[in-house]
This record gives sequence, structure tokens and C-alpha cells, in this order.
Amino acid sequence: MKTVMLGATGLRVHPLVYGTLPLGPLQAAVTPEEGGRLIRYALERGVNLLDTAEMYQTYPHIRAALDGYRGEVLIATKTHANTGELARAHVERALRELDRECLDLVHLHGARVADPFTDRAEVVAELVRMKEEGKIRHVGLSSHFISAIRKAAAHPEIEVIHPLINRTGMGIIDGSSEEMAAAIAESAAAGKGVYAMKALAGGNLISSARESIRFVLGLTGVHGIAMGMLSETEIDGNVALFETGVTETKLWEDLEGKRRKLRIMQAFCKGCGMCVPACTNDALQVVEGKAQVDEETCILCGYCGAACPEFIIRVV
Ligand code: SF4
Ligand code: SF4
Repeated sequence: MKTVMLGATGLRVHPLVYGTLPLGPLQAAVTPEEGGRLIRYALERGVNLLDTAEMYQTYPHIRAALDGYRGEVLIATKTHANTGELARAHVERALRELDRECLDLVHLHGARVADPFTDRAEVVAELVRMKEEGKIRHVGLSSHFISAIRKAAAHPEIEVIHPLINRTGMGIIDGSSEEMAAAIAESAAAGKGVYAMKALAGGNLISSARESIRFVLGLTGVHGIAMGMLSETEIDGNVALFETGVTETKLWEDLEGKRRKLRIMQAFCKGCGMCVPACTNDALQVVEGKAQVDEETCILCGYCGAACPEFIIRVV
């Protein structure tokens, strides 16, 4: 089984990180039992880092996967809190719902801010405090901003970064794929662990999945990639690709033929506009009382779904 050191954390991880976002209610909404079965399938094939977040609502899926499992599993979660108090509540909830005494990694879920260290300084301070209390092993930062990744590279308390990067740069808010790659290399050189997200731009690059994954895996400083996986076939294909670089043609042609899109159930849309500021890509607007998505700029992250009080936005 292939493993790599996650920067200077001392954590040894499989480069294929299980991204649990697509399992939860913001995306495919599979049951905890079904999601747990898929996660367990991946764990039994060597994957050992699970990526989740307060916002993803996938703790029940992870809990189901770990029921009776004896192997080592690392869990990374994220808090989108803007206050220290709320960040603590998010960590406490993760500990409770995942039935853990300590979380391996907690990220400042920084996707919506260019400078989370200024905007949310008290959140970073609270996470560091909880690390001192033994509730968190490592503190990280996830972001779609190059500027935030650069700041993280120089930040003494940030040990792991989780940046958005893909071949086309889709979803990077303040620059190009090349500039994000340079920030990632800088972070890794500074000893940060790096596992990337959105290598397939939320599914938009699915038709060139193999090329797109190889691109991100080949970047200097990338130790792993979080991949959302919804079937055993996807897990098998990714494990083989990440471990050996070998891809089975038929399996990957089938995977690359799949399409995903954002669905807004227009009949139930109240036109309130609460989803619009939730999108860092400016892909949403309300037109004649109904939310509309610009499919050219949508990276299928599903974050707008969390902001909709009517629960009518899904990545399908
Ligand atoms: S429209 Fe929704 S799913 Fe698409 S990028 Fe914006 S927040 Fe993400
Ligand atoms: S938040 Fe939901 S109800 Fe409000 S405009 Fe957006 S999709 Fe419609």
C-alpha cells in the first residue's frame, strides 16, 4: 500500500483521501448506512484519511463506516465558524458525533474569505487552544483563495493546507492554476502537509478525469487529493490510479462518461436570494423571483445548498 508523509505532521496517509461531501445531504444524500459501506470499502483498500466538515453533515456516514473497524483511520474536519465560541461548538459536536476523544485535523473552513487570519483570528486562536487541550492533533486551512494559501504557508500554527486546484483553475478565486500551484509548492517547502480538493472541479472535468487527477498528483508539494466517491467502481479506479498510475480503460471510460449538475427545484424557490452570497464563484443570481445557476462557472461544490432555507438545491 502506498503512503506518504503529510508534511511535518508525522501523519502517514494514503494519497487518496476520501472526500465525504458528495455522500451527504448537500449532494447525493445517500443514507449513513450506504455511505458508511462505501467509506468502509475504501478503508479496507488502504485509504486512511477521511475528509469531512461541520457543513457536510456526514459524521453519521463516517460513524457507520467505523463501527467495528480495527484499522487506523485519520479524520479531518472543518469549521466554517466566524467566532471562537462557535468553532469550539463545531469541534465538540464532531468529537461527540464521531465518538472520538481527539480529532486528527481541524481546518479553518476558509473558502469564502481572502484573509481568514485577519477575518477569523479568534477562530484560529480557539483551534490552537483546543489543540493544547488535546482535542485536536493538527490545525489546517482549506481555501479556494491563493492569497489564503500563501498566508498559511507562513503561518506557524497551520500544519496542513487543503487548497482548491485543478488543471483549468476553475473555482480558484484570485488567480490561475499556475499561481495556486506555486503557493502549494511554497507551503509544502515550509513543511505544511498538502492534500488538494476539486481536482475534477466538482465533476466539471469528469470527461478528462485521468488526465486531471494525474495533473494534480504531479504538482510539486501535493501529498494527496480528496476525491468524492459514490461507488465501489470509483473507489477501485482511484485506488489503482493513485497507487500505481495504472487505469483500466473500460472502467475509466464509464466513469468519465458520467455527468453531474446543480439542480434547483424551481417550483419551490421563494426567490429570497440567500443562496447568492454563499457562492464564492458568483454563479448564482435571482431572475424574476427564481434562483438561476451559471453552469459555466459553477464548480458543483454544493455550498449554496447549505444556505437555502427551503433545502431545494442539490448536486445530482
Ligand atoms: S452555484 Fe452552488 S454549487 Fe455552484 S459553485 Fe456556487 S455555491 Fe458551489
Ligand atoms: S436560497 Fe433557496 S429559496 Fe432562496 S433564492 Fe436560493 S434557491 Fe431559492
